[in-house]
Amino acid sequence: MWRGAVGRLLRGCAAGSPRAASGSAVAQLRRRLESELEDIRGAGTWKSERIISSRQGPHLRLEGGGAGILNFCANNYLGLSSHPEVIRASVEALEKFGAGLSSVRFICGTQSIHKDLEEKIARFHQREDAILYASCFDANAGIFEALLTPEDAVLSDELNHASIIDGIRLCKANKYRYKHMDMQDLEAKLQDAQKHRLRLVATDGAFSMDGDIAPLREICQLAQKYDALVFIDECHATGFLGPNGRGTDELLGVMDKVTIVNSTLGKALGGAAGGYTTGPKPLIDLLRQRSRPYLFSNSLPPAVVGCASKALDLLMESNAIAQSMAAKTQRFRSKMTAAGFTISGKDHPICPVMLGDARLAAVMAEDMLNRGIYVIGFSYPVVPKGKARIRVQISAVHSDEDIDRCVDAFTEVGRKHGALP
Ligand code: PLP
Repeated sequence: MWRGAVGRLLRGCAAGSPRAASGSAVAQLRRRLESELEDIRGAGTWKSERIISSRQGPHLRLEGGGAGILNFCANNYLGLSSHPEVIRASVEALEKFGAGLSSVRFICGTQSIHKDLEEKIARFHQREDAILYASCFDANAGIFEALLTPEDAVLSDELNHASIIDGIRLCKANKYRYKHMDMQDLEAKLQDAQKHRLRLVATDGAFSMDGDIAPLREICQLAQKYDALVFIDECHATGFLGPNGRGTDELLGVMDKVTIVNSTLGKALGGAAGGYTTGPKPLIDLLRQRSRPYLFSNSLPPAVVGCASKALDLLMESNAIAQSMAAKTQRFRSKMTAAGFTISGKDHPICPVMLGDARLAAVMAEDMLNRGIYVIGFSYPVVPKGKARIRVQISAVHSDEDIDRCVDAFTEVGRKHGALP
Protein backbone atom coordinates (compact mmCIF):
# COMPACT_ATOMS: atom_id res chain seq x y z
CA MET A 1 0.00 0.00 0.00
CA TRP A 2 2.80 2.38 0.93
CA ARG A 3 4.59 1.65 -2.34
CA GLY A 4 1.41 2.24 -4.34
CA ALA A 5 0.75 5.54 -2.61
CA VAL A 6 4.31 6.80 -3.05
CA GLY A 7 4.26 5.70 -6.72
CA ARG A 8 1.11 7.73 -7.33
CA LEU A 9 2.55 10.73 -5.55
CA LEU A 10 5.85 10.49 -7.43
CA ARG A 11 4.02 10.34 -10.73
CA GLY A 12 1.90 13.28 -9.64
CA CYS A 13 4.93 15.45 -8.98
CA ALA A 14 6.69 14.81 -12.27
CA ALA A 15 8.37 17.91 -13.73
CA GLY A 16 5.82 20.51 -14.70
CA SER A 17 3.09 19.38 -12.33
CA PRO A 18 2.05 21.96 -9.75
CA ARG A 19 3.01 19.73 -6.84
CA ALA A 20 6.62 19.32 -8.07
CA ALA A 21 7.49 22.87 -7.09
CA SER A 22 6.40 22.52 -3.48
CA GLY A 23 8.87 21.61 -0.78
CA SER A 24 6.68 18.66 0.18
CA ALA A 25 7.80 15.42 1.75
CA VAL A 26 7.39 13.82 -1.66
CA ALA A 27 9.76 16.28 -3.32
CA GLN A 28 12.24 15.63 -0.53
CA LEU A 29 11.85 11.89 -0.98
CA ARG A 30 12.36 12.25 -4.72
CA ARG A 31 15.64 14.15 -4.19
CA ARG A 32 16.82 11.55 -1.70
CA LEU A 33 16.02 8.66 -4.02
CA GLU A 34 17.74 10.33 -6.97
CA SER A 35 20.84 10.93 -4.90
CA GLU A 36 20.83 7.31 -3.72
CA LEU A 37 20.48 6.09 -7.32
CA GLU A 38 23.38 8.35 -8.31
CA ASP A 39 25.50 6.83 -5.53
CA ILE A 40 24.79 3.32 -6.86
CA ARG A 41 25.82 4.40 -10.37
CA GLY A 42 28.91 6.17 -8.97
CA ALA A 43 29.95 3.05 -7.05
CA GLY A 44 29.82 1.05 -10.29
CA THR A 45 27.31 -1.42 -8.81
CA TRP A 46 24.31 -0.52 -10.98
CA LYS A 47 22.56 -3.64 -12.22
CA SER A 48 21.10 -3.25 -15.68
CA GLU A 49 18.79 -5.81 -17.23
CA ARG A 50 19.15 -7.15 -20.75
CA ILE A 51 15.86 -7.81 -22.46
CA ILE A 52 15.30 -11.28 -23.89
CA SER A 53 12.77 -11.52 -26.70
CA SER A 54 12.73 -15.32 -27.00
CA ARG A 55 12.19 -18.28 -24.67
CA GLN A 56 14.78 -19.13 -22.04
CA GLY A 57 17.26 -21.60 -23.49
CA PRO A 58 20.81 -22.15 -24.70
CA HIS A 59 20.18 -19.88 -27.69
CA LEU A 60 18.50 -16.52 -27.11
CA ARG A 61 17.36 -13.47 -28.93
CA LEU A 62 18.33 -10.29 -27.07
CA GLU A 63 16.70 -6.96 -27.80
CA GLY A 64 19.30 -4.88 -29.60
CA GLY A 65 21.73 -7.82 -29.59
CA GLY A 66 20.41 -9.98 -32.40
CA ALA A 67 19.40 -13.63 -32.46
CA GLY A 68 21.47 -16.75 -31.87
CA ILE A 69 23.13 -15.50 -28.70
CA LEU A 70 24.66 -18.41 -26.78
CA ASN A 71 23.40 -18.21 -23.23
CA PHE A 72 25.67 -19.24 -20.36
CA CYS A 73 24.14 -17.33 -17.48
CA ALA A 74 20.78 -18.88 -16.57
CA ASN A 75 20.08 -21.37 -13.78
CA ASN A 76 18.40 -23.54 -16.40
CA TYR A 77 20.74 -26.39 -15.44
CA LEU A 78 18.69 -29.16 -17.00
CA GLY A 79 17.28 -27.17 -19.90
CA LEU A 80 13.71 -27.82 -18.70
CA SER A 81 12.58 -24.18 -18.88
CA SER A 82 11.55 -24.65 -22.50
CA HIS A 83 11.15 -28.43 -22.57
CA PRO A 84 8.10 -29.26 -24.77
CA GLU A 85 6.59 -31.65 -22.21
CA VAL A 86 6.99 -29.12 -19.41
CA ILE A 87 5.28 -26.44 -21.50
CA ARG A 88 2.47 -28.80 -22.48
CA ALA A 89 1.86 -29.81 -18.85
CA SER A 90 1.72 -26.14 -17.90
CA VAL A 91 -0.83 -25.32 -20.63
CA GLU A 92 -2.96 -28.31 -19.59
CA ALA A 93 -2.91 -27.21 -15.94
CA LEU A 94 -3.81 -23.67 -16.98
CA GLU A 95 -6.76 -24.88 -19.02
CA LYS A 96 -8.04 -27.35 -16.45
CA PHE A 97 -7.41 -25.40 -13.23
CA GLY A 98 -7.50 -21.77 -14.39
CA ALA A 99 -5.16 -18.81 -14.17
CA GLY A 100 -4.91 -18.68 -10.42
CA LEU A 101 -6.62 -19.16 -7.08
CA SER A 102 -7.29 -15.60 -5.95
CA SER A 103 -6.70 -16.93 -2.48
CA VAL A 104 -4.15 -18.11 0.00
CA ARG A 105 -3.94 -21.84 0.55
CA PHE A 106 -5.93 -22.14 3.79
CA ILE A 107 -8.89 -20.05 2.70
CA CYS A 108 -9.81 -21.14 -0.81
CA GLY A 109 -6.52 -21.83 -2.56
CA THR A 110 -5.62 -25.52 -2.40
CA GLN A 111 -6.24 -27.60 -5.52
CA SER A 112 -5.54 -31.26 -6.06
CA ILE A 113 -2.46 -30.32 -8.13
CA HIS A 114 -0.92 -28.49 -5.15
CA LYS A 115 -1.32 -31.57 -2.96
CA ASP A 116 0.01 -33.83 -5.77
CA LEU A 117 3.07 -31.65 -6.25
CA GLU A 118 3.81 -31.57 -2.51
CA GLU A 119 3.56 -35.35 -2.38
CA LYS A 120 5.86 -35.64 -5.41
CA ILE A 121 8.47 -33.28 -3.93
CA ALA A 122 8.52 -35.28 -0.67
CA ARG A 123 8.90 -38.52 -2.64
CA PHE A 124 11.68 -37.05 -4.80
CA HIS A 125 13.66 -36.01 -1.72
CA GLN A 126 12.68 -39.13 0.27
CA ARG A 127 11.18 -36.98 3.03
CA GLU A 128 7.88 -37.30 4.93
CA ASP A 129 6.07 -34.25 3.59
CA ALA A 130 6.51 -30.97 1.72
CA ILE A 131 4.95 -27.50 1.63
CA LEU A 132 4.87 -25.12 -1.35
CA TYR A 133 5.69 -21.41 -1.30
CA ALA A 134 5.60 -18.69 -3.95
CA SER A 135 9.41 -18.80 -3.99
CA CYS A 136 12.34 -20.30 -2.13
CA PHE A 137 13.00 -16.80 -0.87
CA ASP A 138 9.65 -17.11 0.91
CA ALA A 139 10.42 -20.64 2.11
CA ASN A 140 13.62 -19.31 3.69
CA ALA A 141 11.84 -16.26 5.06
CA GLY A 142 9.18 -18.44 6.67
CA ILE A 143 10.99 -21.32 8.29
CA PHE A 144 13.28 -19.97 10.98
CA GLU A 145 10.71 -17.75 12.69
CA ALA A 146 8.16 -20.56 12.74
CA LEU A 147 10.61 -23.14 14.05
CA LEU A 148 12.98 -21.36 16.44
CA THR A 149 12.31 -19.40 19.63
CA PRO A 150 14.62 -17.34 21.91
CA GLU A 151 15.47 -20.62 23.67
CA ASP A 152 17.04 -22.01 20.47
CA ALA A 153 20.12 -21.29 18.33
CA VAL A 154 20.81 -21.12 14.62
CA LEU A 155 24.32 -21.47 13.17
CA SER A 156 24.68 -20.10 9.65
CA ASP A 157 27.51 -20.17 7.09
CA GLU A 158 28.69 -16.58 6.52
CA LEU A 159 28.20 -16.93 2.74
CA ASN A 160 24.65 -18.26 2.88
CA HIS A 161 22.14 -16.83 0.42
CA ALA A 162 20.52 -13.48 1.24
CA SER A 163 17.15 -15.14 1.79
CA ILE A 164 18.57 -17.38 4.55
CA ILE A 165 20.18 -14.34 6.15
CA ASP A 166 16.87 -12.46 6.01
CA GLY A 167 14.91 -15.46 7.31
CA ILE A 168 17.28 -15.76 10.26
CA ARG A 169 16.97 -12.02 10.94
CA LEU A 170 13.22 -12.50 11.33
CA CYS A 171 13.54 -15.14 14.04
CA LYS A 172 14.27 -14.61 17.70
CA ALA A 173 16.74 -17.48 18.14
CA ASN A 174 20.34 -16.92 19.23
CA LYS A 175 22.40 -16.33 16.08
CA TYR A 176 25.87 -17.65 15.28
CA ARG A 177 27.66 -17.03 11.99
CA TYR A 178 30.48 -19.46 11.21
CA LYS A 179 33.29 -18.87 8.70
CA HIS A 180 32.55 -20.19 5.22
CA MET A 181 32.75 -24.00 5.26
CA ASP A 182 35.12 -23.80 8.26
CA MET A 183 34.44 -26.87 10.40
CA GLN A 184 36.68 -25.77 13.27
CA ASP A 185 34.75 -22.55 13.56
CA LEU A 186 31.42 -24.39 13.31
CA GLU A 187 32.52 -26.76 16.09
CA ALA A 188 33.53 -23.87 18.34
CA LYS A 189 30.16 -22.20 17.75
CA LEU A 190 28.30 -25.48 18.37
CA GLN A 191 30.12 -25.85 21.69
CA ASP A 192 29.03 -22.37 22.69
CA ALA A 193 25.48 -23.07 21.53
CA GLN A 194 25.15 -26.13 23.80
CA LYS A 195 23.50 -23.89 26.39
CA HIS A 196 20.46 -23.47 24.12
CA ARG A 197 17.50 -25.84 23.83
CA LEU A 198 17.81 -26.70 20.12
CA ARG A 199 20.58 -26.05 17.57
CA LEU A 200 20.00 -25.73 13.82
CA VAL A 201 22.93 -25.59 11.40
CA ALA A 202 21.90 -23.80 8.18
CA THR A 203 23.90 -23.92 4.97
CA ASP A 204 23.54 -23.62 1.23
CA GLY A 205 24.14 -27.07 -0.29
CA ALA A 206 25.98 -25.47 -3.21
CA PHE A 207 27.11 -21.84 -3.09
CA SER A 208 26.10 -19.88 -6.14
CA MET A 209 28.99 -17.44 -6.40
CA ASP A 210 31.81 -19.97 -6.14
CA GLY A 211 30.24 -23.22 -7.31
CA ASP A 212 31.57 -24.87 -4.15
CA ILE A 213 29.72 -27.56 -2.25
CA ALA A 214 29.15 -27.53 1.51
CA PRO A 215 31.05 -30.28 3.40
CA LEU A 216 27.82 -31.93 4.45
CA ARG A 217 29.40 -35.14 5.73
CA GLU A 218 31.49 -33.18 8.21
CA ILE A 219 28.60 -30.87 9.07
CA CYS A 220 26.37 -33.86 9.78
CA GLN A 221 29.08 -35.50 11.92
CA LEU A 222 29.38 -32.33 13.99
CA ALA A 223 25.61 -32.04 14.18
CA GLN A 224 25.45 -35.58 15.54
CA LYS A 225 28.23 -34.90 18.05
CA TYR A 226 26.56 -31.73 19.36
CA ASP A 227 22.95 -32.87 18.95
CA ALA A 228 22.01 -30.34 16.28
CA LEU A 229 19.67 -30.37 13.28
CA VAL A 230 20.86 -29.68 9.73
CA PHE A 231 19.03 -27.45 7.23
CA ILE A 232 20.19 -27.11 3.61
CA ASP A 233 19.16 -24.75 0.82
CA GLU A 234 19.33 -26.80 -2.37
CA CYS A 235 18.46 -24.18 -4.99
CA HIS A 236 21.69 -24.87 -6.87
CA ALA A 237 21.62 -28.64 -6.41
CA THR A 238 18.07 -30.01 -6.71
CA GLY A 239 17.56 -31.98 -9.89
CA PHE A 240 21.18 -32.50 -10.84
CA LEU A 241 23.67 -33.11 -7.99
CA GLY A 242 24.07 -36.72 -6.86
CA PRO A 243 23.65 -39.92 -8.86
CA ASN A 244 19.88 -39.35 -9.22
CA GLY A 245 19.83 -35.57 -9.03
CA ARG A 246 18.38 -35.53 -5.50
CA GLY A 247 20.90 -32.94 -4.40
CA THR A 248 23.94 -32.33 -2.25
CA ASP A 249 22.74 -34.69 0.46
CA GLU A 250 22.54 -37.54 -2.07
CA LEU A 251 25.91 -36.60 -3.59
CA LEU A 252 27.56 -36.78 -0.17
CA GLY A 253 25.59 -39.76 1.13
CA VAL A 254 23.81 -37.98 3.99
CA MET A 255 20.17 -37.98 2.90
CA ASP A 256 19.14 -39.58 6.19
CA LYS A 257 21.11 -37.04 8.26
CA VAL A 258 19.84 -33.76 6.84
CA THR A 259 16.53 -32.92 8.51
CA ILE A 260 15.20 -30.01 6.44
CA VAL A 261 15.60 -29.18 2.74
CA ASN A 262 14.47 -25.93 1.16
CA SER A 263 14.66 -25.52 -2.58
CA THR A 264 13.28 -23.75 -5.63
CA LEU A 265 11.11 -24.66 -8.59
CA GLY A 266 12.57 -21.63 -10.38
CA LYS A 267 15.90 -23.05 -11.48
CA ALA A 268 16.51 -26.66 -12.61
CA LEU A 269 12.91 -27.82 -12.02
CA GLY A 270 11.35 -26.04 -14.99
CA GLY A 271 12.42 -22.53 -14.07
CA ALA A 272 8.95 -21.02 -13.66
CA ALA A 273 8.75 -20.01 -9.98
CA GLY A 274 7.99 -21.37 -6.55
CA GLY A 275 9.82 -22.90 -3.65
CA TYR A 276 9.29 -25.46 -0.93
CA THR A 277 10.33 -26.98 2.37
CA THR A 278 10.51 -30.75 2.71
CA GLY A 279 11.18 -32.67 5.92
CA PRO A 280 9.45 -34.26 8.93
CA LYS A 281 5.64 -34.18 8.81
CA PRO A 282 5.12 -32.32 12.11
CA LEU A 283 7.44 -29.57 10.86
CA ILE A 284 5.49 -29.22 7.61
CA ASP A 285 2.21 -29.25 9.59
CA LEU A 286 3.56 -26.48 11.81
CA LEU A 287 4.66 -24.40 8.82
CA ARG A 288 1.11 -24.59 7.41
CA GLN A 289 -0.13 -23.10 10.70
CA ARG A 290 2.61 -20.57 11.44
CA SER A 291 4.78 -19.69 8.43
CA ARG A 292 3.86 -16.15 7.44
CA PRO A 293 4.84 -16.16 3.72
CA TYR A 294 2.69 -19.32 3.34
CA LEU A 295 -0.27 -18.05 5.36
CA PHE A 296 -0.43 -14.56 3.90
CA SER A 297 0.47 -14.98 0.22
CA ASN A 298 -1.40 -16.31 -2.81
CA SER A 299 -1.27 -19.97 -3.89
CA LEU A 300 1.07 -20.99 -6.69
CA PRO A 301 -0.69 -20.59 -10.07
CA PRO A 302 -1.72 -23.87 -11.74
CA ALA A 303 0.47 -23.26 -14.82
CA VAL A 304 3.51 -23.00 -12.54
CA VAL A 305 2.51 -26.12 -10.62
CA GLY A 306 2.10 -27.97 -13.94
CA CYS A 307 5.66 -27.09 -15.04
CA ALA A 308 7.30 -28.23 -11.81
CA SER A 309 5.24 -31.39 -11.59
CA LYS A 310 6.25 -32.46 -15.11
CA ALA A 311 9.90 -31.55 -14.47
CA LEU A 312 9.90 -33.87 -11.44
CA ASP A 313 8.25 -36.66 -13.48
CA LEU A 314 11.01 -36.38 -16.07
CA LEU A 315 13.71 -36.55 -13.40
CA MET A 316 12.13 -39.49 -11.59
CA GLU A 317 11.83 -41.42 -14.87
CA SER A 318 15.52 -41.17 -15.72
CA ASN A 319 18.75 -39.54 -14.65
CA ALA A 320 19.92 -39.11 -18.27
CA ILE A 321 19.39 -35.32 -18.31
CA ALA A 322 21.33 -34.81 -15.09
CA GLN A 323 24.16 -36.99 -16.37
CA SER A 324 24.30 -35.10 -19.65
CA MET A 325 24.71 -31.86 -17.70
CA ALA A 326 27.52 -33.38 -15.64
CA ALA A 327 29.36 -34.41 -18.82
CA LYS A 328 29.02 -30.90 -20.32
CA THR A 329 30.25 -29.36 -17.08
CA GLN A 330 33.28 -31.61 -17.11
CA ARG A 331 34.02 -30.68 -20.75
CA PHE A 332 33.86 -26.95 -20.02
CA ARG A 333 35.89 -27.09 -16.80
CA SER A 334 38.68 -29.23 -18.26
CA LYS A 335 38.97 -27.27 -21.54
CA MET A 336 39.03 -23.92 -19.73
CA THR A 337 41.65 -25.16 -17.27
CA ALA A 338 43.76 -26.48 -20.16
CA ALA A 339 43.46 -23.05 -21.81
CA GLY A 340 45.03 -21.50 -18.68
CA PHE A 341 42.00 -20.18 -16.78
CA THR A 342 41.27 -20.78 -13.10
CA ILE A 343 37.78 -22.13 -12.53
CA SER A 344 36.50 -22.01 -8.97
CA GLY A 345 34.56 -24.88 -7.35
CA LYS A 346 34.53 -28.52 -8.38
CA ASP A 347 32.19 -30.58 -10.58
CA HIS A 348 29.41 -27.98 -10.35
CA PRO A 349 27.74 -26.41 -13.42
CA ILE A 350 28.39 -23.01 -11.84
CA CYS A 351 31.84 -22.38 -13.28
CA PRO A 352 33.28 -19.06 -12.05
CA VAL A 353 36.15 -17.96 -14.32
CA MET A 354 38.35 -16.19 -11.78
CA LEU A 355 39.87 -12.93 -13.05
CA GLY A 356 40.51 -10.85 -9.92
CA ASP A 357 40.13 -7.40 -11.42
CA ALA A 358 36.60 -5.94 -11.61
CA ARG A 359 37.23 -3.93 -14.77
CA LEU A 360 38.76 -6.92 -16.53
CA ALA A 361 35.69 -9.04 -15.68
CA ALA A 362 33.36 -6.31 -17.01
CA VAL A 363 35.20 -5.70 -20.30
CA MET A 364 35.72 -9.38 -20.95
CA ALA A 365 32.00 -10.12 -20.39
CA GLU A 366 31.11 -7.29 -22.77
CA ASP A 367 33.54 -8.59 -25.37
CA MET A 368 32.16 -12.11 -25.01
CA LEU A 369 28.72 -10.72 -25.86
CA ASN A 370 30.22 -9.02 -28.92
CA ARG A 371 31.16 -12.57 -29.97
CA GLY A 372 27.61 -13.80 -29.32
CA ILE A 373 28.24 -15.37 -25.88
CA TYR A 374 26.13 -14.12 -23.00
CA VAL A 375 27.98 -14.33 -19.67
CA ILE A 376 27.96 -12.01 -16.66
CA GLY A 377 30.86 -10.46 -14.74
CA PHE A 378 30.56 -10.26 -10.95
CA SER A 379 32.57 -7.91 -8.77
CA TYR A 380 32.46 -6.29 -5.32
CA PRO A 381 30.10 -6.08 -3.41
CA VAL A 382 28.51 -9.23 -4.89
CA VAL A 383 31.84 -11.06 -4.42
CA PRO A 384 34.83 -10.04 -2.23
CA LYS A 385 37.19 -7.27 -3.44
CA GLY A 386 39.93 -8.62 -5.73
CA LYS A 387 37.90 -11.73 -6.57
CA ALA A 388 36.01 -10.51 -9.64
CA ARG A 389 34.97 -13.22 -12.01
CA ILE A 390 32.77 -14.16 -14.93
CA ARG A 391 30.23 -16.75 -13.86
CA VAL A 392 29.48 -19.36 -16.52
CA GLN A 393 26.56 -21.73 -15.99
CA ILE A 394 26.35 -24.95 -17.95
CA SER A 395 23.08 -26.54 -19.01
CA ALA A 396 22.24 -30.06 -20.18
CA VAL A 397 20.94 -28.52 -23.41
CA HIS A 398 24.24 -26.93 -24.39
CA SER A 399 25.76 -28.94 -27.21
CA ASP A 400 29.45 -29.88 -27.21
CA GLU A 401 29.84 -27.31 -30.02
CA ASP A 402 28.26 -24.62 -27.81
CA ILE A 403 30.73 -25.41 -25.04
CA ASP A 404 33.68 -25.37 -27.42
CA ARG A 405 32.56 -22.07 -28.94
CA CYS A 406 32.38 -20.56 -25.46
CA VAL A 407 35.89 -21.82 -24.55
CA ASP A 408 37.32 -20.51 -27.85
CA ALA A 409 35.74 -17.09 -27.29
CA PHE A 410 37.12 -16.97 -23.71
CA THR A 411 40.57 -17.85 -24.97
CA GLU A 412 40.47 -15.15 -27.64
CA VAL A 413 39.05 -12.49 -25.31
CA GLY A 414 41.36 -13.53 -22.46
CA ARG A 415 44.43 -13.08 -24.68
CA LYS A 416 43.17 -9.75 -25.99
CA HIS A 417 42.72 -8.34 -22.47
CA GLY A 418 45.79 -9.88 -20.89
CA ALA A 419 44.02 -12.49 -18.74
CA LEU A 420 45.98 -15.18 -20.61
CA PRO A 421 49.58 -14.96 -21.85
N1 PLP B 1 18.45 -19.69 -2.18
C1 PLP B 1 19.46 -19.64 -3.07
C2 PLP B 1 20.75 -20.31 -2.72
C3 PLP B 1 19.30 -18.99 -4.30
O1 PLP B 1 20.30 -18.94 -5.18
C4 PLP B 1 18.05 -18.39 -4.59
C5 PLP B 1 17.81 -17.66 -5.87
O2 PLP B 1 18.63 -16.98 -6.39
C6 PLP B 1 17.03 -18.46 -3.64
C7 PLP B 1 17.26 -19.12 -2.45
C8 PLP B 1 15.69 -17.88 -3.90
O3 PLP B 1 14.99 -18.71 -4.78
P1 PLP B 1 13.66 -18.21 -5.52
O4 PLP B 1 14.10 -17.61 -6.80
O5 PLP B 1 12.82 -19.43 -5.66
O6 PLP B 1 13.04 -17.20 -4.60
